[in-house]
Amino acid sequence: MNLSNKKVIICGGGLAGCFLAILLKKSFPKTIIKVWEREEKEEESGLGYTIQPPVKHKLESLDLARSTQLFHKDLIYWDKIHIEAKGVTSSFDFIPTFGVTRSNLLAYLRNFAEELGALFQYNRSITPEKIENLRQSCDLLIAAEGVYSPIRQYYKEELQTQQTCGKTFYIFAIKMLP
Ligand SMILES: Cc1cc2nc3c(=O)[nH]c(=O)nc-3n(C[C@H](O)[C@H](O)[C@H](O)COP(=O)(O)OP(=O)(O)OC[C@H]3O[C@@H](n4cnc5c(N)ncnc54)[C@H](O)[C@@H]3O)c2cc1C
Repeated sequence: MNLSNKKVIICGGGLAGCFLAILLKKSFPKTIIKVWEREEKEEESGLGYTIQPPVKHKLESLDLARSTQLFHKDLIYWDKIHIEAKGVTSSFDFIPTFGVTRSNLLAYLRNFAEELGALFQYNRSITPEKIENLRQSCDLLIAAEGVYSPIRQYYKEELQTQQTCGKTFYIFAIKMLP
């Protein structure tokens, strides 16, 4: 699909929305890209992410200097894990992994996309009443507003989307060693 000179609206300026805005702007610099984001630009949300080599390499291939800055900002790296339980410590080698806070990762992606020319509109929440007008006002409307996407819900017959909820047991406990 050739998107040159077209107008694209991305709903949701999270990880997927920002990353897509960057990739689109790199491939089609003349495309008008607007990103509608519910939060304020600097709003602190979420915890952090573990980033492994394939994702790190992808970020570096987009802009080496910028991604190096990102990883130096947080500077958490590990390639070994020690689990302490009942007085016994077990040690394992682990895939080389970087830790980055969600706020730093988002700031990095949003600034990058904005510098490439994507237009962010913060504090704009997509509601079902706005969807049809938004769709009419652009050539391509992209739903990137996360797991509870109102757009995927709105077009669920057309898109045949399905959502399954389940329980996930999630433990995240890290102690930094010197
Ligand atoms: C506890 C936890 C830990 C995780 N750890 C990792 C990890 O270490 N590594 C990893 O790769 N992944 C991790 N993930 C998964 C990762 O968070 C998701 O895959 C990723 O955030 C999905 O990106 P997204 O852009 O689709 O959604 P999000 O990042 O959730 O972004 C959605 C955006 O849309 C905005 N939005 C929502 N509704 C609206 C609306 N109505 N109108 C306008 N904007 C709206 C939100 O404000 C948000 O900015 C983790 C997830 C959880 C819950």
